[in-house]
Amino acid sequence: MAPERPVQLRPVLRRPAKPATPIRVLVVEDVPTMALTVQSILLQASMEVELAETGALAWERKLEFCPDIALIDLGLPDVLGFELIERFARAGDCGIILLTASDEESDRVMALETGADDYMVKPAPGRELVARIHALHRRMNRPQADRMLRIYIDPAQRCLVGIGGERTALTEAEMSALDTLLDAAGTSVSREWLSRIALKRPLHADDRAVDQLVMKLRRKLASQGASDRVILSARRQGYVIADPSLFRAVPRTAPANSNGHLNGAEAFGAE
Ligand code: CA
Repeated sequence: MAPERPVQLRPVLRRPAKPATPIRVLVVEDVPTMALTVQSILLQASMEVELAETGALAWERKLEFCPDIALIDLGLPDVLGFELIERFARAGDCGIILLTASDEESDRVMALETGADDYMVKPAPGRELVARIHALHRRMNRPQADRMLRIYIDPAQRCLVGIGGERTALTEAEMSALDTLLDAAGTSVSREWLSRIALKRPLHADDRAVDQLVMKLRRKLASQGASDRVILSARRQGYVIADPSLFRAVPRTAPANSNGHLNGAEAFGAE
């Protein structure tokens, strides 16, 4: 059995979970009094709120503010509410609640069919609006949480370990890059720093070695079923593991393979 290396990942794994971030809501409503009323209700419920009074502004704010949920009024001055709902739904990255002045069934059906997740007739009672936003937010996050794959690392054996015990060996540089990214706890690590730590040399001009290293690491993580978005490129800044909580260190007594033995040669085999 290979000599034990210190479990370097512990500090990261002990880090408490991030506090829940407030729900970000974009309110698309052209009547100022209505918009302000909704804003004040949502602010009191500790949500982050942005307002947009036209469809064009709504799209701009969506791109800047990245809301979790958009409340979209059906009657907007510059665009049909349905068109906006459809556009938001196509982007697929925020929940949509239709706010409509009429209780027409055809409007509600149309809105739901174009991609709204829920609807409310105005004036929406404050507590119900907040409850519906919370409910939609939970629904949106549930499947994602289920899909989230844990990635197990055996730092002592320098490998990734699959659910079934299948192991993917990491080179020293890959392990070191992974450690460094995890230690950064969701903040980006520069290519220069990764080069110094993982490759043990300064980064030269036009040096692609760090990018190649990260590419190989991504490929190995993907072989364990991880999304290729586990390690993100932070533009001009380097790389970041946005969600270090996906990673777990395997217990010091690593799980055995199907033969009941840890197979060092297999674990550290050539790429
Ligand atoms: Ca309106």
